[in-house]
Amino acid sequence: MAKILAITNQKGGVGKTTTSVNLAASLAATRQRVLLVDLDPQGNATMGSGIDKRTLKQTVYHVLLGETDIRAVRAASTSGNYDVVPANRELAGAEIELVDIDQRETRLKSALATIESEYDFILIDCPPSLNLLTVNGLCAAQAVLIPMQCEYYALEGLSDLVQTVKKVRAHLNPQLEIEGLLRTMFDPRNTLAQQVSAQLQQHFGDKVYRTVIPRNVRLAEAPSYGVPAVGLDKTSKGAQAYLALAGEMLNRVAQGV
Ligand code: ATP
Ligand code: MG
Repeated sequence: MAKILAITNQKGGVGKTTTSVNLAASLAATRQRVLLVDLDPQGNATMGSGIDKRTLKQTVYHVLLGETDIRAVRAASTSGNYDVVPANRELAGAEIELVDIDQRETRLKSALATIESEYDFILIDCPPSLNLLTVNGLCAAQAVLIPMQCEYYALEGLSDLVQTVKKVRAHLNPQLEIEGLLRTMFDPRNTLAQQVSAQLQQHFGDKVYRTVIPRNVRLAEAPSYGVPAVGLDKTSKGAQAYLALAGEMLNRVAQGV
């Protein structure tokens, strides 16, 4: 059975997509079979995986509305060696169109159930909000991976997210857990970042990944080539950090934690 993770944080620009794309490529580099689901109308994970969102006739939008099979929209990321269920701006309409549809929260879950056995990991890149798209991600997942920047308001945002996870667990998906918290764009010279990081470890203990993602220009420029940084420059600090994260994650899975 695949490990299904929703990469989520309602705060924008914290590194969700960078994490989704580079973790997918890093897991694939260790011969894991990976599917990346783009659940954001911005389509950044799609583009960052080398798939042109503007040319797609069908996307995750059509899957959620039950208009097509997930296999029909699935594409291969040749630059990352994993599969992608792509998205583009059309997905923005799903939020409204899903409201009147049966089982609107579990549409993605049902679609993934049909292809789950083909993968070791399924990563879901969520949009920066707690809307119905994100709820679909949270219902389909076994656990959430939360990327966050160690800034002043980060902990406040985190407690909102933890509440949402609890609500989804109580009403929609009893198995949902917090897989881990990932410190992104980390600058060790920044005192505030160190303080927030220490608080995070105090509150969440082992849930905080030991791997820290540094601020790294390769991670920022890779999307413009449609290649994960792990494929563009494996030796860069950013790529190395995501490869280490994949290693840490596989170790955790092996140890059953
Ligand atoms: P959104 O909420 O809009 O979906 P996001 O949480 O997915 O954003 P990203 O798109 O991954 O965040 O990152 C935001 C910006 O920061 C992007 O321009 C990305 O290239 C850059 N970025 C992300 N992580 C790093 C990093 N470790 N070092 C440098 N730049 C980074
Ligand atoms: Mg994003």
